[in-house]
Amino acid sequence: MKNECSIVRDILPLYLESMVSDETGEFVKEHLRGCPECTAELEALKAEPKIEAVGSEIRDSLETEVMRCMKAARKKLRRKAYRAAAVIAGIFIIVCVLLHFFPVYRLIDIGPMTMGSYYSGGQIAKALYIGSASDRAEAQAVLRLADQAFNDVRHTGAENDERYGLLARYATDTDRYVDASFNEHSLELWAAHLGKDEGWIWVLYSSKTFNHDGSVAHGGWNIPSLWKVERSSGGEWVVVQIREHP
Ligand SMILES: [Zn+2]
Repeated sequence: MKNECSIVRDILPLYLESMVSDETGEFVKEHLRGCPECTAELEALKAEPKIEAVGSEIRDSLETEVMRCMKAARKKLRRKAYRAAAVIAGIFIIVCVLLHFFPVYRLIDIGPMTMGSYYSGGQIAKALYIGSASDRAEAQAVLRLADQAFNDVRHTGAENDERYGLLARYATDTDRYVDASFNEHSLELWAAHLGKDEGWIWVLYSSKTFNHDGSVAHGGWNIPSLWKVERSSGGEWVVVQIREHP
């Protein structure tokens, strides 16, 4: 009987899965009828979860785990992308602000070949920082006078010298341009660095004076100009030197 039990128990898993021949099945059935131990063993086998069931359970949990990971990764990536975009935007703003105050690109307008030859390094450097807000505000008075000079096509050279000082070079002298009718110009303050008694102003201008017949009497396009200024006894800034690369 004991020997038969061990044979039956070997077969039991196959018997449970109906993977035995009819003959063997009958033999097991017959044995089980008379053997409560082996019957108990069969019941125990039935109670165990099937291997495929366990497999599919693992697969399901693996799948959900993978899905969860992918979802998390996607979320993380999206967050990373947002962060990267924010960083790029931040850098862009910082660069814009820096370039506003330190317009290094003006080196191109000034002309790299003039560096150290016509303009000194210190003078060039003054164009690469726009200066304080108060200096720029103070410099506006000088620019207004230059504006008037540019527009002036009605006075002689001597009169313009009297009216505008060194800025008279931007006026159109009637004794030189007898047919001058009107002037068109733009004048941009690049930088202003004013000390107690003297300072420097960088400007960029374009100017064209037209004759009555519409032809151009004289003009210049995108000319950087460095003006040295000194404070007069009246407290006003007066241009005492103009440096323009020829
Ligand atoms: Zn048995």
